[in-house]
Amino acid sequence: MASLFASEVIRRAEILSKDHVPQPNLEELPMTPLKMIFCCFDPRVLPEKFLGLKSDDRVLLVRTASGTPARNILDIVAIDRLVGLNEIIVVKHTDCGALHMTDEAIREHIVKHNPALAGKVNDIEAQTTTNITERTRLDVEIIKSSPLVRKELRATVSGLLYDIKTGKVDRIV
Ligand SMILES: [Zn+2]
Repeated sequence: MASLFASEVIRRAEILSKDHVPQPNLEELPMTPLKMIFCCFDPRVLPEKFLGLKSDDRVLLVRTASGTPARNILDIVAIDRLVGLNEIIVVKHTDCGALHMTDEAIREHIVKHNPALAGKVNDIEAQTTTNITERTRLDVEIIKSSPLVRKELRATVSGLLYDIKTGKVDRIV
């Protein structure tokens, strides 16, 4: 079945395109290194706001489930090759959905909808956690320990924790 919301956003884009300003091609953009920030896609967590990001900060924001970089190592490599990266920051947050989910529940969900995979999903890890501070350290370590990522870039990785109640950000790594 075709998605109704997809049809709706195509309709909205058609209207908005009338005021669209053409974007430059990639080769017309400055190829100075970027900073990559991983952050959760939780709608309560808007890094542009709580980190005070500015348009000239040259930040590439990657929003994933819980802000884990676990499934994005090749994205780091690709952007580093294409434009260059000079720093990576992993930002986690309090009350993250990853604290309300378990890897086992995710495996059960997969098998429930595809019983043929029973017994074949035991090594699936979704970076859920019961301790967000520890998970911040582990997510930083995923990048730091990856031989696919340039050594100098690995040395720049930090891990921050955003408190959704106070708005403050602490450095964990
Ligand atoms: Zn989250």
